Amino acid sequence: MAGNFVLIPQYLTTVFIVSIFLVGLSDQGTTFFPPKDIADKFRNDPETLKLASTDYGHIVHEIPSTVFHPTSANEIATLVKSAFNSSVPIKIAARGHGHSVRGQAMSRNGVVINMTALNDLDHLRKAGSRISVSRSPSLGFYADVGGEQLWIDVLQTTLTHGLAPVSWTDYLYLTVGGTLSNAGISGQTFRFGPQISNVHEMDVITGKGDFVTCSAKVNSELYYAVLGGLGQFGIITRARIALEPAPKRVKWLRILYTNFSQFSKDQERLISSNNGRSTTSSHKNYGFDYVEGSLLLNQGPPDLSFYPKPDQPRISSLVTKYGIVFCLEVAKYYGDHTAPITVDKELEVLLKGLGFVPGFKFVKDVAVVDFLNRVASEEQGLRSKGLWDIPHPWLNIFIPKSRILEFESAVFGHMILKENIPAGLVLIYPTNRNKWNDKMSAVIPEEDVFYVVSMLRSSGNNNWEEFDAQNKLILKLCVRMGIKFKLYLSHYETQEDWRNHFGLKWATFQDRKAQFDPKHILAPGQKIFN
Ligand code: FAD
Repeated sequence: MAGNFVLIPQYLTTVFIVSIFLVGLSDQGTTFFPPKDIADKFRNDPETLKLASTDYGHIVHEIPSTVFHPTSANEIATLVKSAFNSSVPIKIAARGHGHSVRGQAMSRNGVVINMTALNDLDHLRKAGSRISVSRSPSLGFYADVGGEQLWIDVLQTTLTHGLAPVSWTDYLYLTVGGTLSNAGISGQTFRFGPQISNVHEMDVITGKGDFVTCSAKVNSELYYAVLGGLGQFGIITRARIALEPAPKRVKWLRILYTNFSQFSKDQERLISSNNGRSTTSSHKNYGFDYVEGSLLLNQGPPDLSFYPKPDQPRISSLVTKYGIVFCLEVAKYYGDHTAPITVDKELEVLLKGLGFVPGFKFVKDVAVVDFLNRVASEEQGLRSKGLWDIPHPWLNIFIPKSRILEFESAVFGHMILKENIPAGLVLIYPTNRNKWNDKMSAVIPEEDVFYVVSMLRSSGNNNWEEFDAQNKLILKLCVRMGIKFKLYLSHYETQEDWRNHFGLKWATFQDRKAQFDPKHILAPGQKIFN
């Protein structure tokens, strides 16, 4: 097997120590000597190796030779440089929070970097300590954030300054480096762009071990490569994230539809009427701050925890009657500058003319942190039932707006409703292409508006393949129908598939790889260049 090696610190020569490093390593016996100053940062105990060979997907398991626990960006640079200079091929994967679903942060027989170790320099360091908030005349407010930081810590730290990032993911226990390597999308994307559109600058350690600060103006090729670059070009150790004054509270609404074309028409209207940026103080001139959507399905009891208890029976009846109910979810932020009464008036205006089922509008008024961190309570619920650490054969797909009705009819109308394939949690919402920068590595459909469709299914340990086969069937169907979709959080097994995925961007992607990681050291779990 190519790429196998044995890690032996150069200065450790006693049989005892060497035998520790040999435990569980490859049978090839090629030797890589990490430099002396980082030699004590590797761990090979079974517990550590097991953690690094598992992710949220629970589908792929690749055992690394060792796990590196850096306490500084310099140590990461030292590791990558020595791998780059080594005659032995060495693969290195940065692991953020391991919330990939297909082994993207794994490195079979290679090195996994436990990025969260950057947070553990000593007992004084705690979550959020590598987050600092500043202001400059040209950028306004921003946060310098370690690549290993969780977005929940970014939120909590910036809120203490009355500030917050503007673009989020639904779930906040993901790392900054991890989401910036993909895109980072949610209901705010239509307005503020994905998280990768809200980064001023980054410190990156390239595949040559060079420590480079990059932005749209300085080392811009690396900057654009890394954003949405699937970890292929460098390891992000710091990102400068744009901040704006944080809203205090959120009007969080769900309105229900029984007709998809009306539902999607309304979603598209909402994302087109609020396609500009604003600060909290001027929110009233704008539409909603967040637009998403999901399905309520007649496949076992639907999750109705959002809705008032007395309303749950009539919602259940609607779901039973129609099989699928479409839930349009929106949020309107407000703060000190907007009194609740004013917001309610704005909501009235914004909802005017929408074609939801009369009487099926539900509003919550919550603190901003409760809205942004809303998935945490779902996580707790699933964990308590033992339903969190199980296989997740997820499908995330971007569908061009012009084909969404046909997609809906084939997948939701036929496969889910008629054939009753279990769909799990299904999200569906449109977003605007003009908020993405085409120079970035992230790949999206060509049309001005495209839909995010996420089928977030979980399965038992023995039947994820069944779900995976259904995912493949959906993709085949899209190909047959000529839908020019793009996968998000994609995983492919062959380079030909990756080439198709990147399309016109493939040549640039390859060139950038040759420039920044010519020995193909980084992020082998993505299986693009290995
Ligand atoms: P990991 O899984 O650890 O790593 C992902 C990839 O990035 C790997 O290739 C890794 O090598 C690389 N990487 C990690 N850190 C760095 C770094 N510092 N520098 C360079 N490369 C790095 N995504 C969304 O966009 N929107 C959502 O709403 C959303 N919700 C989610 C909800 C849940 C419950 C889960 C499990 C995932 C969700 N995701 C969402 C997907 C998420 O963005 C990805 O899983 C992403 O990879 C972040 O996870 P992570 O930080 O654990 O990264």
